[in-house]
Amino acid sequence: MRLSLVPTPIGNLEDITLRALRVLREVEVVACEDTRRTGILLKHFGISKPMLRLDQHTVGQARRLLEGYEWVAYVTDAGTPGISDPGAELVALALKEGWQLEVLPGPTALIPALVASGLPTARFAFEGFLPQKRSERRARLAQVAGRTVVLYEAPHRLRETLQDLLQIYGPEHPVAVARELSKLHEEIWRGRLADALEHFKEPRGEFVLVLGPKAEPTAGLEQEAEAVLEHLKAQG
Ligand code: SAM
Repeated sequence: MRLSLVPTPIGNLEDITLRALRVLREVEVVACEDTRRTGILLKHFGISKPMLRLDQHTVGQARRLLEGYEWVAYVTDAGTPGISDPGAELVALALKEGWQLEVLPGPTALIPALVASGLPTARFAFEGFLPQKRSERRARLAQVAGRTVVLYEAPHRLRETLQDLLQIYGPEHPVAVARELSKLHEEIWRGRLADALEHFKEPRGEFVLVLGPKAEPTAGLEQEAEAVLEHLKAQG
């Protein structure tokens, strides 16, 4: 079987690629997270194609659901399938089953947010949605010192996440908040974490957070900390 992962616009329909449209026209079936949403997209581009629902609840049955097809396109709600959505599970299955996998380049929220942030792009960590548990969130963020960090967040959790980040990074830390990318009300807010909380009092829309790099602990300091610990242990 041939499986094509097809990125779709994150807001502006002009961002679909010519290749994406050709593949959507040529495949036998379009598997998608939400048939209503993808149906609207296909209709907009004059494409009439059978659709099959493959979301986080049904992706586990993808082998059975896709059986018998020779060429399938997979489309998620928006952006590139495989980035913080059920696409990653489908890729794992495709590789296990030996399907022919092709991933089309195209729209995704993380890259425009990172570039528009104005923060360093040479080294960055994409953390997607942070875990819900505060201790796990902190542990994740502790692992990415020295890199710009890109996070996805739902509007109803944005303030809580900003509050957590403020505690970990401090109020002065630089952050960019990319809201409603490529849509009518696109906003790229850049400033300090403390001011972001002031600015986003009632968050609405879709968000990507980009944090400036946190200083890496120097080797000297780490060694010093270890030496102090050893010293304390030796003292009983
Ligand atoms: N696969 C998608 C991609 O390639 O970006 C991401 C899917 S994930 C389920 C959805 C999250 O992406 C949203 O909660 C938001 O954080 C981010 N996102 C998607 N579209 C966005 C947009 N237009 N503006 C800002 N963030 C967006």
